[in-house]
Amino acid sequence: MNIILFGPPGAGKGTQAQFIVKKHNYFQLSTGDLLRDEVKLKTPFGEKIEKLISNGKFVSDETVNTLLRKSITNLKFRDRIIFDGYPRNVEQAKNLELILGEFNQTIGHIIFLNVSKDIIEKRIMGRMTCDKCNITLNEFFNKEQIDLHPCGKDFLKKRKDDNFDVVVARYETYMKTTQPILDFYSKKENFTEIDGAVEIEQITNKINDVLNV
Ligand code: AMP
Repeated sequence: MNIILFGPPGAGKGTQAQFIVKKHNYFQLSTGDLLRDEVKLKTPFGEKIEKLISNGKFVSDETVNTLLRKSITNLKFRDRIIFDGYPRNVEQAKNLELILGEFNQTIGHIIFLNVSKDIIEKRIMGRMTCDKCNITLNEFFNKEQIDLHPCGKDFLKKRKDDNFDVVVARYETYMKTTQPILDFYSKKENFTEIDGAVEIEQITNKINDVLNV
């Protein structure tokens, strides 16, 4: 069964996905990461994507759906995917059900990490991700871990779209376009809302409780 981690930017979806990957043997499918990989290739397609991301805008459904389909149809990931950052609008939510249905796969859990705007701003502004091992740390909350990071401090980079203006734009887009999916999901019996404002470990424990049922 697959899992959807849902919530605003900075809710901790990526961080929690990494724990689920380790403990429950899953594969994290972050559409944001897949898009950033395209940007790194520096192709005209990648440049187009970079413009949208750095303005806090969404990349087209067509582009994201193509990337998504590649992973869903990969037998290695079959029924063991955590969707992180997808779906982001109601059309994507419907598309996900359609593709999964086409390949006889299901969504076992929809987990909504609920966090307020002021907390999101602090988390995103301090966020640093390692280019080598992909771990995410926060320069305000994890100073010591940053200094002692095993890959070396220099690999920890800030995302270009993690600046104040873009964060505000991304949050607005989330409220307008992504949050309406909650109406679609919250009625389903495999939907769970978790307070995403508490300590990382507490959130992980709650997610584990949900997944172990
Ligand atoms: P994330 O890493 O999930 O915060 O995503 C970073 C950026 O990638 C977003 O602000 C969007 O510009 C783009 N993006 C990621 N996932 C999607 C998606 N499912 N649909 C459209 N754009 C996306």
